[in-house]
This record gives sequence, structure tokens and C-alpha cells, in this order.
Amino acid sequence: MIVEPNGVIGILGGGQLGRMLALAAARLGLRAHVYTPDENAPAADVAHALTIGSYTDAERLEAFGEVVNVVTYEFENVPAETVDILAARRVPVAPGARALAVAQDRLIEKDFVNSIGARTAPYFPVDDLASLAEGLQKIGRPAILKTRRLGYDGKGQTTIAAADGDLARAWEEANKKAWAEIGARPAILEGFIDFTMEISVIGARGRDGSIRCYDVPRNVHEGGILRRSQVPSAAPAAATAEAAAVTTRMLTELDYVGVIGVEFFVLKDGGVLVNEFAPRVHNSGHWTIDACAVSQFEQHIRAIAGWPLGDPARHSDCVMENLIGDEAGRWRDVSVEANACIHLYGKREALPGRKMGHVTRLNPRYRAPPAK
Ligand code: AMP
Repeated sequence: MIVEPNGVIGILGGGQLGRMLALAAARLGLRAHVYTPDENAPAADVAHALTIGSYTDAERLEAFGEVVNVVTYEFENVPAETVDILAARRVPVAPGARALAVAQDRLIEKDFVNSIGARTAPYFPVDDLASLAEGLQKIGRPAILKTRRLGYDGKGQTTIAAADGDLARAWEEANKKAWAEIGARPAILEGFIDFTMEISVIGARGRDGSIRCYDVPRNVHEGGILRRSQVPSAAPAAATAEAAAVTTRMLTELDYVGVIGVEFFVLKDGGVLVNEFAPRVHNSGHWTIDACAVSQFEQHIRAIAGWPLGDPARHSDCVMENLIGDEAGRWRDVSVEANACIHLYGKREALPGRKMGHVTRLNPRYRAPPAK
């Protein structure tokens, strides 16, 4: 399946990722049709066409499916029903339903990662206070309790601290509090990993099965939200090689088409654990817009449209920093910095914790000699 220039790429979701996908599609002479329930979607400003509708509105989705050549999505919580409605109309959706189902549930995701010979933090399924207590006995403290579904940017998770001494009552209270904090929903308990750094692999698999991975960024999170990504990462070579090998295996096993973002913890011994993966373009790959000839967004469009994958080589060292909440108000200062590439997402309101834009600071390897 190949979408020729002037063809239409359907994008479920209208946030900043949809916006940057639409921009990349336009550069390739393709048109983006965005489907979103949000009237003020950031992607709407740059799309060829827009459908406002809910993700379970079969009639609207079918009409959308009629006018696009392929459908992709910019967030992993697309309901399975949405993909089923499109699949029933033989609309190609990439990445496919399996990748989406695995990524949507932290327990299924961890089982999958371990089943292909990669490693994760120790984990235990939690459905009530009894299984939480059992999990804590097996895994020990500190640990992290995360909802199985619908968590993002550190939401839907809470840390259970190491306890001082054998205070059964205090433990019971702490467990109750943690369980309430995540909304008493099906969850997963994870051992707390004392990592040396976090890295991610932005990889892509084309319709022909070819795989390309970008250089690995080092990611720093604050409050569960990505603060910055830096390339090169300074991670041990063995860690980056293992992370790329694991990503390649995941892409192949899932018969994946498109870009994936896989987050890893690097351990003291140089080994890596998979934290989670996103079946989409990823915040830790935004620097590829300005530091590579082919960005992760273009790579994703190429993959789903059946085009050859592009060269992911990086031409500059860089640091990408998110502009979160009212930090976007600094746009004037950032816009006059040399070698700073500013991206603002056109969001109407700068709510705390909201990703409003990002800046990639380039440090080119080849600088022009100073003027004499
Ligand atoms: P997540 O939403 O699962 O990606 O978690 C957000 C961030 O919380 C991660 O990027 C880590 O910085 C931290 N984190 C998540 N899980 C663990 C863990 N098992 N051990 C230590 N830190 C964690």
C-alpha cells in the first residue's frame, strides 16, 4: 500500500503531535485530515481538513474513513472501538490494533516485553488492597503503584515509600492512601528502580519491514513530565546498543508500521530495563525536527504511507526543552537566542503542567569561522 503525493493522511487526535505530523505530511505533498473531539485542537490550524467528532461516533468515523487513504493516531488511548469501526470499513490503520492494545495496558505491555526476552522492573498485578499487600511483600519498598490504563505524564501513579521499621498499621494506612490516590482501579505495582539515567529509542518500521532508529537521547523528567532530552546521551555504548536491539525486536514482533517511542532505565551495570513504550511519535524525539534531515514526524508519515524510510542520521548535537505552562511566556527571549529553534503549539490556555511548546538548542558541529 502506497499513499502517493496529494493523498490524504487521517490523524486521530488534534494535539501537538497531530499538529507536527500534519506539518510533516504537508512538506511531503500529502494532506492531513484531523479527527478530534476538540474544537480548539492545535492540529486544526495546520490541517487540510478537520472533522470534529467523538471517537465512538460510528457515522462520523465512517465518513472520515471514506476520504482518507490511511489512518494513524497521535495518542495511545484511542478506544479499540474506534479502530474496529475503521477496520470494518477496510480503512488501513497504522500502527495496528495489536500494538495499540499492548501499549494501552501496563500489565499486558510488561508481559509482552518480558515474553520477547527484554527486561522490565519487577511487577505485580494489583486489583484490591489484598493484592497490593501481596505485591509489596514480593517486590518490597519503595515501589510505584500505577493504573493499568489511561496514565500519562506521571498521572495515575503514586510512590509507596520505604517504611521505617515494621509498622504494620502505618503500612496498611499507606497502602489504603496509595490505592485511593490512583482511583482504586486495576493497577500494577512496580519495583522502584535506582537508575543512573533514562534514555529512549525513537525507532521506525516501514511497510517493507525495514527498521531505522534515531540516536538515543538522555531524558530528564520532573514531576513525571519530560523536562528535557539531550543528544548525545553519554549513556554507555552497551546500553544504547541493547536499547536499540530491544526496540528492533519489539517492532518486528508487533509487525509494526510507523514510529515507536520506547523508554528505558539505564542501570549501574550498563544494562537496560524497558519502562514503557508509546505506539506513536514521542516527546523525546522532538529534537529530530531540527537536528536531523528527516524528523520522527516525517519518518512516521513515510512509514504509514508506504514510502521508503528516511535516513535518521543527526547533523547536530542538541538539547530539547519543553515549555510547560507559563514558561511559554518566555517566547520572546527564546526567539532571539542563536541556534534555538522555537516551536509553539498554538494552545489557547497555559494551564500548569500543560505542554505549550518546546525549544531545541542546536550546537552545530561545523561552525562558520568568525568574521575577520
Ligand atoms: P511513566 O509514566 O511510567 O513513564 O513514569 C514517569 C516517570 O516516573 C519515569 O520517566 C521515571 O522517571 C519515573 N518512574 C516510573 N516508573 C519508575 C520505576 N519503576 N522506578 C523508578 N522511577 C520510575
